[in-house]
Amino acid sequence: MEKAHDKVWNSCLAIIKDIVEWQHFKTWFEPIRPVALKEKILTIQVPSQFFYEYLEEHYVNLLAKTLKRELGKEARLEYRIMVDSGNDKNKPLTMDVAAHGFKTFSNNEMDFPLVINNPVKNPFVIPGLRKMQIDSQLNPIYTFDSFVEGDCNRVARRAGKTVAEKPGATSFNPLVIYGGVGLGKTHLAQAVGNEVKRLHQNKVVLYVSSEKFINQFQDHSRNNAINDFIHFYQLIDVLIIDDVQFFNRAEKSQDALFAIFNHLHQSGKQLILSSDKPPKDLEGVQERLLSRFRWGLSADLQVPDYDTRIDILEKKMKNDGLDMPREVVKYIAYNIQSNIRELEGALISLLAQSSLNKREIDLDLAKKVLRNFVKTSSKEITIETIQKMVCEFFDVSYDKLLQKTRKREIVQARQITMYLAKIFTKNSLKTIGEHFGGRDHTTVIHSCQTVKDLMDTDSLFRESVIELQQKVQLAAM
Ligand code: ADP
Ligand code: MG
Repeated sequence: MEKAHDKVWNSCLAIIKDIVEWQHFKTWFEPIRPVALKEKILTIQVPSQFFYEYLEEHYVNLLAKTLKRELGKEARLEYRIMVDSGNDKNKPLTMDVAAHGFKTFSNNEMDFPLVINNPVKNPFVIPGLRKMQIDSQLNPIYTFDSFVEGDCNRVARRAGKTVAEKPGATSFNPLVIYGGVGLGKTHLAQAVGNEVKRLHQNKVVLYVSSEKFINQFQDHSRNNAINDFIHFYQLIDVLIIDDVQFFNRAEKSQDALFAIFNHLHQSGKQLILSSDKPPKDLEGVQERLLSRFRWGLSADLQVPDYDTRIDILEKKMKNDGLDMPREVVKYIAYNIQSNIRELEGALISLLAQSSLNKREIDLDLAKKVLRNFVKTSSKEITIETIQKMVCEFFDVSYDKLLQKTRKREIVQARQITMYLAKIFTKNSLKTIGEHFGGRDHTTVIHSCQTVKDLMDTDSLFRESVIELQQKVQLAAM
């Protein structure tokens, strides 16, 4: 039996067909699927955000008239926008938006991963997605309050505060926070986001790692939905992108970032970026992006001095309700100098040891624990180690890895090894080449480039490389 929504929609189409030119009808109406009729609300599914906007712009009156003819003047229309058509692993993602010009409210849940329950409160706001609620993906523990100020971070912290008070309205746009690992980039960037949410409840804040951004982009690009991807990001008021150095392997994602950056910047929206080096030193990132990164303020996070390290330890202890002798705190602060993550790591190891051995924390225990900690925390990674890890990972023999063969698996394993050696060791390209049966440095350059390109286009390949990268990283700790 014909469903109610099909019946209503077919009647509408019969009228529309006579009014709209054939070619336009084919383009804009045939792809529409009626999906539900509840009370007087007809929901129609449209293939993309762009499609929805086009209908809203050109055909909303026609739709309103025909639908009211069918259902009376109470008639309402809702679009179900296909955000992602899904695959065998993920179900399709859609979001529902009320049509402009039909007085209505929508309370549908949205499935887009970054979006939670969507009360489209005011259907008259255009574009219709403007008022949706987006889960900002922030960790609530990363606040300014828990971010201890010291000489090492004063400028960046103050800049962050200023931006949080007036997002998009200061010259600190973008705000770029840079510094080495474990110095607080993620914490500070998220603190700005959390503070914006506290001060400006109506602002849409979104935190995303560069990895996730790039992955999402590649998924959308595979589904021919790049426009939807870009549109989505253009709805954000405060966009925080962490670790932008990772864009160096993703040329096409950089194009998307460029479009999003321009749109947001021009519309007075705030961008906050973090990076492990100052923008001018970022390799493999397009110059046009770098020059934009330099438009605002770049503030660095430095290694904390002794007093700040003490303050940080005491803050952590206070937050966790812990206590330990002052001399132990000093001992840790004195000995762990490299970064704050290690400082925390030392504290956690010490607590673990103390509770495992049912032993009070004292200087002796601290010395014992820190000895292990420091020893295991800065291993030098060699080309040989990486070669071994890659061989194990792909189950190829060491000899094969070095041989001259055109077998694809082996060629790729070798290229990945060179790529990782370039990232994780301080060896020159020449030395790396020598470790692969005397290949020259241009081969190494070519290999690294190939790996980057493949990571951009082949997600399985990309996953392998990332997994390996994590293994090597772990081995280096
Ligand atoms: P990064 O992103 O630069 O690698 P994170 O932001 O992840 O570093 O910081 C590492 C750890 O150190 C986190 O647990 C963070 O909360 C903590 N941390 C960093 N800076 C500070 C600070 N100024 N005060 C308190 N904790 C800090
Ligand atoms: Mg980080």
